[in-house]
Amino acid sequence: MEPWRHSWGPRQCSKAGVSDHFDVVILGGGCAGLSLSMALAAQGVHCPRTLVIESRTEYTNDRTWCYWNDRYAPAPYPIQQRWQTMRVVHAGRSVSLDCGSTPYHMLAAQDFYDTAQVSIDRQANIELRRGTSVVGEPTRSGVVWIIRTGSGDVTARSVVDTRPPLVPRRDGAALWQSFYGEEIECSASVFDASSMDLMHFLAPDPRYIPFLYVLPVTPTRALVEVTVFGAAPLAPRELSARLQAAVAERVGDAPFTTLRREHGILPMGLNEPPSSAHRSCVRVGVMAGGARPSTGYAFQRIQRWAGDCAHALVSSRHPIDHQPDPLPLRVMDRIFLDVLRADPSRGGALFFSLFSRADPARVIRFLSGNGGVIDALAVAAAMPMPPFVRAALAMTRRRSRICEVEGIA
Ligand SMILES: Cc1cc2nc3c(=O)[nH]c(=O)nc-3n(C[C@H](O)[C@H](O)[C@H](O)COP(=O)(O)OP(=O)(O)OC[C@H]3O[C@@H](n4cnc5c(N)ncnc54)[C@H](O)[C@@H]3O)c2cc1C
Repeated sequence: MEPWRHSWGPRQCSKAGVSDHFDVVILGGGCAGLSLSMALAAQGVHCPRTLVIESRTEYTNDRTWCYWNDRYAPAPYPIQQRWQTMRVVHAGRSVSLDCGSTPYHMLAAQDFYDTAQVSIDRQANIELRRGTSVVGEPTRSGVVWIIRTGSGDVTARSVVDTRPPLVPRRDGAALWQSFYGEEIECSASVFDASSMDLMHFLAPDPRYIPFLYVLPVTPTRALVEVTVFGAAPLAPRELSARLQAAVAERVGDAPFTTLRREHGILPMGLNEPPSSAHRSCVRVGVMAGGARPSTGYAFQRIQRWAGDCAHALVSSRHPIDHQPDPLPLRVMDRIFLDVLRADPSRGGALFFSLFSRADPARVIRFLSGNGGVIDALAVAAAMPMPPFVRAALAMTRRRSRICEVEGIA
């Protein structure tokens, strides 16, 4: 394997102020863009000349990433909290699940951004340009891409576009996951930091599946989040009243301060697979196949993609996008989402059934996207059959109609 600079002429990294042509330009320096930068930086002398263009001038602690850690290698960033136990609560019943073999990790975004910045600073072939916005779509001229930015054009052989759309299209996903949370510091010990609430279902709603997600970091500090799965994405103001009620219920009379807030809208099952303009210009990230369809979890998937994409860039000089899940998992995800969408008021009962009846290790593998067919079958077996059979039949009928219309035998 040849280092990039040997095969593509003398090094002209613009960190040294020489040129605005790069081997790779990454549009957007958020989770996907910085994860890829770190994976490229780890390639040492093989690291291509890379520019990351990020519109933000400063990184702030704007989110927490949580995931079940399925790797025994230490993470390159500090982990804020780990839980070995998680709870699911529905209609006054509660189930406590042991996740000790894949502890639930919590990573503060600021720690991730700081780690990425250090890694980029150490690699002379990577430049992070903050406070610069990409304008429009990259255009192709000969063998290079021209990327227009607010402060001039840059060119590249390969482009990795991680920019999410400004406004999610309502019909773009089978379901949307919307959440709004507050990290609070309370004057009294009201939280049990040894366990987190993965899903504490709120009163059923015909349009949404609402639940609380509570991550206690200490007995006095926690991130309390209201989450809903529904056909339409929701803005913070639509979740605010539920969040205030949930916080009041958790802290009782104890005074508290709000340290920060976070909000997100994640697609669950994209209706159209993301399309890339060309082999050398790919779209990736949470809105382009980076999120696990049935859960919205994206962090671990993005890390796996970043490692694979860095290898592909070094070995074949072409980036790769998110690879589709194996067919059985995709079918299972779609049926699961169709069932939730058909009758959101039953969502809490379905999830409770899943967590109380199936082996937690299998459920975690399925939810994280690491599961095989046996895990998917175990998940299916833990659910009430009739709605799943109905959704599977409806899906089969839809597929046959599409085949008829398209004239596929
Ligand atoms: C509050 C929140 C909490 C989340 N928690 C979890 C979690 O616990 N676990 C999990 O697995 N997933 C979680 N997710 C989902 C997912 O992991 C994150 O959304 C993740 O940040 C997605 O990475 P990304 O690179 O696709 O998008 P982003 O991280 O949003 O990065 C996109 C970047 O592109 C930049 N950008 C946009 N337009 C332009 C432009 N025109 N020019 C230049 N730059 C531009 C943006 O500033 C941004 O930095 C969460 C999401 C949110 C919003």
